[in-house]
Amino acid sequence: MKHIGPHVSASGGVELAPLNASALSATAFALFTKNQRQWFAPPLTQKSIDAFKKNCAEGGFEPQYILPHDSYLINLGHPTEEGLEKSRNSFVEEMQRCEQLGLTMLNFHPGSSLREISDEECLNRIADSINLALDKTSGVTAVIENTAGQGSNMGFSFYHLAHIISKVNDKSRVGICIDTCHTFTAGYDLRENYEGVWQEFGDVVGFGYLRAIHLNDSMKPLASRVDRHHNIGKGLLGMDFFRKIMKDARFDEIPLILETPDETLWAEEIALLHSFE
Ligand SMILES: [Zn+2]
Ligand SMILES: [Zn+2]
Repeated sequence: MKHIGPHVSASGGVELAPLNASALSATAFALFTKNQRQWFAPPLTQKSIDAFKKNCAEGGFEPQYILPHDSYLINLGHPTEEGLEKSRNSFVEEMQRCEQLGLTMLNFHPGSSLREISDEECLNRIADSINLALDKTSGVTAVIENTAGQGSNMGFSFYHLAHIISKVNDKSRVGICIDTCHTFTAGYDLRENYEGVWQEFGDVVGFGYLRAIHLNDSMKPLASRVDRHHNIGKGLLGMDFFRKIMKDARFDEIPLILETPDETLWAEEIALLHSFE
């Protein structure tokens, strides 16, 4: 049985996220551990931490199926020293929040060159940022998400992901989250060349690094480099693609996270996806 669930709201406190996930019969979930529009947040209270752990245990959510996402403000490949420093400090704080909550992964978009530095320099900065954060924390894996390649965002090519990993010192604490919408609009045709794309991922990056999937359909066409999610089966990836994912044993032990735009469909989407297994 696969582990599926959406990126649920944690407004009102992180401890509410597992309850929101349970209400949808989810068996995995994603969350922000703080307001994603702020650089820094007040520390988590012990009461909130205890309630989060209790609610996760009662809902049957083990840490390997919970995928926190960092703030969208963070750019670990920032071209300026000031921007880089702020991003790195904020990222370490997010890793520490995960540690406190007993979580084992933090999912993030790699970073952006803002067209001020070369792609390679940006990728190297991202790897250095990961190394700094891993040195200051323990038990939490940095999970890099592939991107659609919108603007100057890095991470749309499997080679970018492999380059970052190659420069991370502790390879046991770096992983990858593949977003199906981003993969498609970055130019990998998961619809017509399902096996070929996954084989390329395996060859270039390696399935050993795959920690999660973001399961999104796409509003925008192949190689459009635009990041617009659609609900399952309603976009250009189409329902057959999701049938294949659900029958693919490579994804049995990782969280499959919905970031689909119409959240009133989430319970239905989870049930539908399970029916394809
Ligand atoms: Zn995503
Ligand atoms: Zn996206």
